[in-house]
Amino acid sequence: MPYKASRRKPAITGNKKWAVFLILFCVILIFIGIGILIYRLADSQTEETMAEPAGTASAVNTQPPAPDNPSTEPSSSAGQNASEPEASSTDSGAVSTSSEDVPVVTPPAEQTGNYQEWFPDLHFPKPEYTTKDKTAYLTFDDGPSENTDKVLDILKEKGVKATFFVVGKEGPDAQRRMQRIVNEGHTIAIHSYTHDYKQIYASPGAFLKDFEHISTLVESYTGVKPNIFRFPGGTVNAYNKNVYKDITAEMLRRGYTFYDWNVSSGDASAGGATKQQCIDNVLNDSKSKNRAVILCHDAADKKTTVEALPAIIDGLTEQGFTLEALDNTVKPVTFNYE
Ligand SMILES: [Zn+2]
Repeated sequence: MPYKASRRKPAITGNKKWAVFLILFCVILIFIGIGILIYRLADSQTEETMAEPAGTASAVNTQPPAPDNPSTEPSSSAGQNASEPEASSTDSGAVSTSSEDVPVVTPPAEQTGNYQEWFPDLHFPKPEYTTKDKTAYLTFDDGPSENTDKVLDILKEKGVKATFFVVGKEGPDAQRRMQRIVNEGHTIAIHSYTHDYKQIYASPGAFLKDFEHISTLVESYTGVKPNIFRFPGGTVNAYNKNVYKDITAEMLRRGYTFYDWNVSSGDASAGGATKQQCIDNVLNDSKSKNRAVILCHDAADKKTTVEALPAIIDGLTEQGFTLEALDNTVKPVTFNYE
């Protein structure tokens, strides 16, 4: 008896234990299931509310998306040793949230079909190009920024004109700076809305959409529809090898003129450049040139560019250059490409 009892008892207890364990396990599973369900429901609701108001909220806050990765730039730049990196993301001064009197610029509508038929207004008569001896063209990329006014003050003081390849900065400050560029006789030109290499160089259509966005913005702020531009990173770079031929063909077909550079201030090189380096870079590079298209940056962190500018202008003048703004009759300076 004791023998049997001792054998049966543990067996019964074991079964019960298993049953209780199983029930508990099922209950836990059910709770986990319910938990996951609730989490997913909540998550999908947040995604919906975030994705919705593209037209309203985005009109106010429009700092360009954070650039991906700076600057292995045009290694193919025909030995120009020029680098032209991303727009500064530190330029908080150009963005404002109080934009009552600022025109609302909505992103371009989704386009389908052949990109050559998109945005028919992005079209100009093909220009006749001319060249002038011993002419230097100061160009400033990535603005407007907190430094735009300082750059403009120096240009005014020195009595020279320059070219600004601008990006998608919105708000009253950006508007005022773009207007000042135009009002003081400089050329406002297109660089990019997002300056996001991966985005704009995804396809000719993607490039056109971004281009239309910045063109519309500049025109709404200044009344000027720019007819010249500079590719972010230059005409040929690591990001657009597969599409640059189609994009350049399309932009030329539309009557646009684009400019690279043959002199660089080096203000965008890794680690930056001192005031003296900027001066030396420009004046050493330009010495041997008959026509110099000079790359500088108009960005909040490019303070040495501003400091160097008076000496750069004086030095170029001493070298016999006349400083002018680009327009679409100036024969382009471009990297060698096929
Ligand atoms: Zn740039």
